[in-house]
Amino acid sequence: MTDSSDRDPIDRAGLRDRYWERVPLKNMTAREWEALCDGCGKCCLNKLEDPDTNEVALTRVACRLLDDSTCRCAQYEIRKHFVPDCVVLTPKNIAEHAYWMPATCAYRLLYEGKALYDWHPLISGTPETVHAAGVSVRGWTVPEFEVPEEEWEDHIVDEPV
Ligand code: SF4
Ligand code: SF4
Repeated sequence: MTDSSDRDPIDRAGLRDRYWERVPLKNMTAREWEALCDGCGKCCLNKLEDPDTNEVALTRVACRLLDDSTCRCAQYEIRKHFVPDCVVLTPKNIAEHAYWMPATCAYRLLYEGKALYDWHPLISGTPETVHAAGVSVRGWTVPEFEVPEEEWEDHIVDEPV
């Protein structure tokens, strides 16, 4: 029996067998590309970047649209209306963005030639393993409308990996 919390909001059914190990990012179908997202929510946390070194610090201050109980965007389809600078990651722009993506993000891992972790839903078969492994943002963010930008520095966290 499958608990409702086990339901995967991303349709990962019927994809090519272990395609992420052999198909280059640029040759993946749109569904295969979308299925790489593990649903951790970490890319929706605000970051602080040192303009000189490009060093990125993660904060627990979340984008206004992030629901940290599901770790999903509350308005994914129309998010650009509310958050115009939300990045739509594609095989074409991954090179530009990989450096600030979370260390466990599947897009970054594959871009850097690394393997996915066993807790990835493509491997485990359930999105719950991401939360069980402690690598998602579930339950520990603060909404950005509660923290002025000049105070984000006080909320810097180590990325859960
Ligand atoms: S960090 Fe990567 S894997 Fe996690 S939610 Fe964002 S795009 Fe998906
Ligand atoms: S708009 Fe949605 S997808 Fe974009 S950063 Fe915010 S919560 Fe994440």
